[in-house]
Amino acid sequence: MKVATFSVAGERRVGVVDLESGTVAPFDLPVERSRAGVAALVELNGSDLPRTLSPIPLDRVVLEAPIPQPRRNIFCVGKNYHEHAHEFANSGFDSSATAGAVPKNPIIFSKVPETVIANGETVVIDSTVSEAIDYEAELAVIIGKGGRGIAKSDVFDHIWGYTIVNDVTARDLQGKYSQWLIGKSQDTFCPMGPWAVTRDELDLETAGIRCFVNGDLRQDSKIALLIFDIPTIISTLSQGITLQPGDIIATGTPAGVGIGFDPPKYLKSGDTVRVEIDGIGTLENPVKDRAQ
Ligand code: MG
Repeated sequence: MKVATFSVAGERRVGVVDLESGTVAPFDLPVERSRAGVAALVELNGSDLPRTLSPIPLDRVVLEAPIPQPRRNIFCVGKNYHEHAHEFANSGFDSSATAGAVPKNPIIFSKVPETVIANGETVVIDSTVSEAIDYEAELAVIIGKGGRGIAKSDVFDHIWGYTIVNDVTARDLQGKYSQWLIGKSQDTFCPMGPWAVTRDELDLETAGIRCFVNGDLRQDSKIALLIFDIPTIISTLSQGITLQPGDIIATGTPAGVGIGFDPPKYLKSGDTVRVEIDGIGTLENPVKDRAQ
């Protein structure tokens, strides 16, 4: 099931997307509850879904991020595909490089919740702060059932579903500060969407992940090539941190980011970044300079 958060007639709703008919059928949820987006469904915690109302053509709604205001920071994993770990370690911006190109344990950082923007919204470059803005196509996990000390074998019981995230990064700030939060948490730096899918929709063994900048294929990999797989990531995070329903975990990006090219191919005003994951959909965002 593909579940979108969207607005129609000025109100936020959550509904089931049907790509064949090009519609979204809103769940019969109180307006108050719908404000949480997909998190409103996650919080049902396995109890029956509400009925759906009459479908609305997708072109008559405005998609929002699946969880427009996460309750806390988005957890992220760094250097989690082999080729990307090497391209980043060689870039000169990797403040974790002394630990080796391929990490022995997952590198975990976070992005503040206010970075989240929807499919179609603009990634803003503030050239007075950074001129080295990069894209990172990533699969994001949405936690369903919370928990602490989750065993690897139980991890999928705790996953509600998945979405796509572009972990936009200011490379110069990431290199300047040994903690990555500033370079990762600039306003608008977390495009998310276009919707979420329940965990049964995604085949982790076969799903491809791709990123295009202005139609030029830059990243092209498979989710199955993660260094630390999803059970390892969630099990690691939950050792001492209680995961909560609606928590979002971005799992890392494959090779082909801008910093991997010589010279680097940073994002610039007028660019469009498109991220695709098989079984989820396409997340596309324009890039503009703040001064324009
Ligand atoms: Mg990343």
